[in-house]
Amino acid sequence: MMSEGIVTVSYIIATILFILALGGLSDQETARRGNWYGIIGMTIALLATIFGVIERHYEILFVALLIGGSVGMLLARRVQMTQMPELVAILHSLVGLAAVAVGFASFMDPDKHFVGVELTIHDIETYLGILIGAMTFSGSVIAFGKLSGRIGGKPLTLPGRHWLNLGLLIGAIWFGYEFVVQSAAGGGMDPLVIMTVIALLFGMHMVLAIGGADMPVVVSMLNSYSGWAAAATGFMLGNDLLIVTGALVGTSGAILSYIMCRAMNRKFLAVIAGGFGTGGGGVAAGGGVEEQGEVIPIDAHETAALLAGARQVMIIPGYGMAVAQAQHTVYEITKVLRARKINVRFGIHPVAGRMPGHMNVLLAEARVPYDIVFEMDEVNDDFENVDVSVVIGANDIVNPSALTDPDSPIAGMPVLECWKGNTTIVLKRSMATGYAGVQNPLFFKENTRMLFGDAKETLDEVLKVL
Ligand code: NDP
Repeated sequence: MMSEGIVTVSYIIATILFILALGGLSDQETARRGNWYGIIGMTIALLATIFGVIERHYEILFVALLIGGSVGMLLARRVQMTQMPELVAILHSLVGLAAVAVGFASFMDPDKHFVGVELTIHDIETYLGILIGAMTFSGSVIAFGKLSGRIGGKPLTLPGRHWLNLGLLIGAIWFGYEFVVQSAAGGGMDPLVIMTVIALLFGMHMVLAIGGADMPVVVSMLNSYSGWAAAATGFMLGNDLLIVTGALVGTSGAILSYIMCRAMNRKFLAVIAGGFGTGGGGVAAGGGVEEQGEVIPIDAHETAALLAGARQVMIIPGYGMAVAQAQHTVYEITKVLRARKINVRFGIHPVAGRMPGHMNVLLAEARVPYDIVFEMDEVNDDFENVDVSVVIGANDIVNPSALTDPDSPIAGMPVLECWKGNTTIVLKRSMATGYAGVQNPLFFKENTRMLFGDAKETLDEVLKVL
């Protein structure tokens, strides 16, 4: 058993490492180092907790660690890059579930020694931990379903849904009061269980009511909730490290939600209330094609010729690049073009793909140099100087109707304005819509060419021709 002093020091070191990890993850070049800080911090935290805080029942702990560790390792090894967002969502749900389990265990603990005000404070901590945990759990499960396409992207609009939410909120507060009162008299299980059911329903309803286009905000918001659930668990257990770690995750998730909202020109509260994204729907649905004119298809040879004749090329990757796993071929083409003195840049939309930073991760995996990867704001004013933009499996993030159609589910979202360049080549398999389920007028523009097919296959051909 470690002494209390060593545990405290270990916790402080772990906290510092977590902060350094977050700092590192904010930049692509330091992200790998940031990950290592996180891994080392978590290892120190686990060891200090196992050998310094826990006193008995090691056999149960190690069996649980073995099962959890093996499942986690197996899943992480098997998961495809395209399934990362779903994995993240389901991991958030586990944090919520853990908070609920710890909350109930803490409430039912026969050795609980709190009395008077201390008991009330502990009860409130328990109640909040279970409340946030249950919401995070059910909300994340629904987000998992939506991101993996198991649940449609169309927002659920129940009649009087805002009143329903208000009713659930008032119910949660009322049962919280009942719980604290009854707990002081030795009971409290009934209101606790009822509140858990309310919180589960609330979490489900909250995410079901959000349209496809607003999912990025939900993902980052659930990330934040999972942090607050962990922090509440830390208060319940009187564990400082869990409080600090939870607060770090909670606040960084909140900042991320803010960044995503700003990127999509949305108001956070409006998104949560389900006010946006209520138009179309259908995750990557095949339909929704309205006649908007003719599209001009081209083949790999013509694409290669256009690229070879350009001086300025902008590559705009989207979710389809992740599906096709085309990032390596994209970089091979980039190298060929750069060797011919063609300036190739990548323009990354903040919500491209299915999770924050999705495209950056893929490009980093393919070893694309960071200095040619730009954020939307850095390149959006420069399309007039671009000869050829290559849109690889992106759709919503290059949809001009976001700027022109106030009724569009993505209205107001800034997009990469590639149509202002000389020629845009769009790589996709069909005329299907993107995640937000809206048709894209870009495909019908005079200076747009469509290269149909799986992005990896068509780009392989383009590379061969080049
Ligand atoms: P979109 O979902 O708008 O479009 C992706 C396009 O890729 C589809 O139109 C599809 O067309 C094409 N595609 C799919 N597979 C392939 C393939 N193998 N080869 C070639 N093309 C392919 O993606 P964007 O990145 O443009 O936009 C992201 C969307 O996801 C936004 O609506 C955003 O709000 C939402 N979102 C983002 C999250 C985030 O955090 N980044 C989280 C959740 C949602 P086709 O089927 O014809 O091939």
